[in-house]
Amino acid sequence: MSTIFSKIASGEIPSYKVAADGDYYAFLDINPIAKGHTLVIPRKEVDYLFDLDDKTLSGLWLFAQKAAKAIQAVIPCKRVGVAVLGLEVPHAHIHLIPLSSEADVDFKKPKLKLEKEELESIAKAIAAKWESKT
Ligand code: 5GP
Repeated sequence: MSTIFSKIASGEIPSYKVAADGDYYAFLDINPIAKGHTLVIPRKEVDYLFDLDDKTLSGLWLFAQKAAKAIQAVIPCKRVGVAVLGLEVPHAHIHLIPLSSEADVDFKKPKLKLEKEELESIAKAIAAKWESKT
């Protein structure tokens, strides 16, 4: 059985894609806590990040590093923060969150309400940076 994130990575379910290669996929979180909030996943289906095999886990972090640089080139922020929760979706993923202060990484605050057009344009801009760097 495929997870929702596998269906996103395969294109079966639409997403605001920001980066992809044969092993990994990055897309905007549908309920972002900051503009540019991105999820990075391995295409391989493993529930818990720290159960990934060495190669997939290290590749995921290297992929996330490149995605973070593309995000930072587009979204005004001091840093791109990282969070690993995995409490909702049983498919390993890393949250990349543009930060200007500690408060920007509060998962309990109300989610941003962004229009489809804005999500599209953020994803497109990050994807263009990604393309130019890979
Ligand atoms: P976690 O598993 O890390 O606790 O939370 C899962 C994250 O995935 C949440 O931030 C949630 O908004 C996001 N999410 C859940 N379902 C979807 C989806 O179908 N599409 C997208 N783009 N994000 C999702």
